[in-house]
Amino acid sequence: MSLVSHLECTRCGRHFEPGKIYNLCPCGSPLSVRYNLKPLASAHVRERLAGRVPSLWRYREVLPVAREESVVSLGEGFTPLIHARHLGEKLKIPNLYLKDESFNPTGSFKARGMAVAVSMARELGIEKLAVSSAGNAGGALAAYAAKAGLRALVFMPEDTPRLNQLECALLGAEVVLVPGSIKDCARAMRERVAAENWFDCSTLREPYRVEGKKTMAYEVYEQLHWRMPDVIIYPTGGGTGLVGMWKAFGEMQEMGWIEQRRPKMVAVQSTGCAPIVRAFASQKESADEWPEPKTIASGLRVPSAIGDFWMLRVLHESRGSALALDDRAMLGGMRELAETEGILTSPEGGAALAALRRLLTDGYIAGVETIVLFLTASGYKYVEPLAAIGESVRRE
Ligand SMILES: *Cc1c(COP(=O)(O)O)cnc(C)c1O
Ligand SMILES: [Zn+2]
Repeated sequence: MSLVSHLECTRCGRHFEPGKIYNLCPCGSPLSVRYNLKPLASAHVRERLAGRVPSLWRYREVLPVAREESVVSLGEGFTPLIHARHLGEKLKIPNLYLKDESFNPTGSFKARGMAVAVSMARELGIEKLAVSSAGNAGGALAAYAAKAGLRALVFMPEDTPRLNQLECALLGAEVVLVPGSIKDCARAMRERVAAENWFDCSTLREPYRVEGKKTMAYEVYEQLHWRMPDVIIYPTGGGTGLVGMWKAFGEMQEMGWIEQRRPKMVAVQSTGCAPIVRAFASQKESADEWPEPKTIASGLRVPSAIGDFWMLRVLHESRGSALALDDRAMLGGMRELAETEGILTSPEGGAALAALRRLLTDGYIAGVETIVLFLTASGYKYVEPLAAIGESVRRE
């Protein structure tokens, strides 16, 4: 089923043969999966998609799983792309779309990456999976590990939202709470992982979560009836989705689905943790660590990312942009999405809308363009931010 030709280091370019267990390249950078896409160029895959399963597995030719029976699925992907008519009218953007990722298992798009990573773990005979997570990644790993009958270990900072902690425990993972930031957490985890031979599934430290996340790009293109959007606005933490989607557009080009033009990629972060925005603004190729990250958007609380150079490369190549919003603006965005489109999204989704408003004001975006906002998780997991919005409504 799979057309993987090899894996390739995203920094030094070294090649690795498929079918083996990998974390990072010896040079310390993430590996990326490469496919032999030539047979697909004339295989009319695009046309054949119509009758397939409504999950990310409909794109199986460009996924790394070799054996059908390895697939661990809870119905992830193929989330709705919603035409935001009211919001679009208000903002004078007739072609505004919302990719509502709350429909994924465990309520966030982390399910996409973990579905593919856990499927690959099963295929490769890995039995003990670990992750450090300040939000949704832990729950997603726990769910897929449970479904696959594998063990899950989740390290979380003590201030991780309560619901994220609870879901991990209920889904059968061992949860370890660590004082301090996600960095301290990752350090504590690495000791345990090495001592007890767990497989590290943390962001970009294994090659397959990106493959699951990249399917968002295939879906957007298919759901827009084989048209490319002009701009993609994406709440960015570790960057898996940003680099994954860009990779997918490259694959589509290679298969002859699309021409040269790809969307502009816009990374959205928090003013309380904006390492990529800062590096982009000063035209650097890598990002310095953000001291004392603080934001209600737990998915964006990533002070230093191992894929920083990869994200910055994508922003540059796509002639994209990067901007940061504060918590207040995110809450405002959440409320506006709820009132105009009936969607309770997470603070990260609220940030995407707040970013769009800013880009309109700055003139980066014109109203004639087709724009896709990523609403990366369900608001129902974010009790504290929702309560804060509720308070502000009551005061008015
Ligand atoms: C993890 C997460 C993000 C950031 O995703 P990356 O692809 O790792 O940058 C954004 N929003 C939510 C809700 C998340 O859980
Ligand atoms: Zn390398």
